Amino acid sequence: MEEGKILVTGGAGYIGSHAVRQLVRAGFQVIVLDNLSTGHIKAVDPKAELVIGDVRNLGLLDAVFTRNKIAGVMQFAGKIIVPESVSHPLSYYDDNFTAVLSVLRAMKTHHVHNIVFSSTAAVYGTSKEPSITEEAELHPESPYGFSKLAAERLICDCERAYGIRHCIFRYFNVAGASEDGSIGEAHPVETHLIPVTVNASLTGRPMQIFGNDYQTRDGTNLRDYIHVLDLADAHVLGMKMLVNGGNSAIINLGSDKGYTNKEIVETVGEVTGRPIQWTFGPRRPGDADSIVASNRKAKEILDWSPKRDLRQMIHDDVQWRDKHPNLYGRQGNKIASEDRKRLLNYTPSRHFGAFYEDIESRDQERLKKLHETNRLN
Ligand code: UDP
Repeated sequence: MEEGKILVTGGAGYIGSHAVRQLVRAGFQVIVLDNLSTGHIKAVDPKAELVIGDVRNLGLLDAVFTRNKIAGVMQFAGKIIVPESVSHPLSYYDDNFTAVLSVLRAMKTHHVHNIVFSSTAAVYGTSKEPSITEEAELHPESPYGFSKLAAERLICDCERAYGIRHCIFRYFNVAGASEDGSIGEAHPVETHLIPVTVNASLTGRPMQIFGNDYQTRDGTNLRDYIHVLDLADAHVLGMKMLVNGGNSAIINLGSDKGYTNKEIVETVGEVTGRPIQWTFGPRRPGDADSIVASNRKAKEILDWSPKRDLRQMIHDDVQWRDKHPNLYGRQGNKIASEDRKRLLNYTPSRHFGAFYEDIESRDQERLKKLHETNRLN
């Protein structure tokens, strides 16, 4: 096995923070690089080191790779909201493609040969297959899907040219939280069905199911849900495979089982025991009728299959929200005294030039737009 630390970009975000926790549990030394635009210091496992900075900053990456022996990179940093990608394609390609370009540049320069990459089922677009295999046609339908596919392509090209091996994971719908309720999903504007429904159930606020005339068993969209810890476990297995010299692979992470939006709302009500005020709303642009993963390849290559079911996902999300009514709250990004020890302050290497972007003002604009243009809240 290759010696060294695992660099986790976006390790303060929802999926990244769960992967960091599982990596630490599996005995890896972890460095998180996160610009905290959507992540939270409080989400980062206390045993991980932390660099606050942007993954597109080549000078910073160079400093991180120079000061640490890195065995592999897990790339989570990026953006994930489909309608937002339609209105902000430049930002999406920058965060989802340029970021990967920078990481691969640093990996090539520093002879790091293993990357685990967060991709998405959105690369398939609408598929006619009842259970989508990795060989299905790729035709993304949004800048989000295209930006991820472009990054996948670049990663594959870098294997041919530089021998950088990859494990690319295409996620289906991720939900849930850590089993102890200490970390979970915490977006400033929640758009995903399970947390939206859990919030509706816990607060009594109304919600909508978008569309009831789709080609599915009850007319509402059907999706394949997977627990964030199952997803994180797959990433650990993927990284172990690479650092042990395994071959590159592109793998779906899903459950091979679909639930309709209506079934999700009913199941959340059953798990919480609290009524949900919901109505049907109009279709949301870009929603495909039905999306379910084949997870045969994950079983074959990684000996992985999901261990936690839908009720567990909902239960864990409820527990996380019950324990954290303000999510990570105002303290989420406060650097506490115990964090100082693990905070690595690197001066970006000069020869890569200056890098600066006003992330904060950009994010303010992004949130405002989300409220205005999408019925996302
Ligand atoms: N959805 C819904 N109401 C909401 C949020 C989502 O009906 O408040 C639907 C959405 O239209 C889609 C499904 O839930 O059919 C899953 O959407 P989500 O945004 O959770 O994930 P996606 O499948 O878009 O990645």
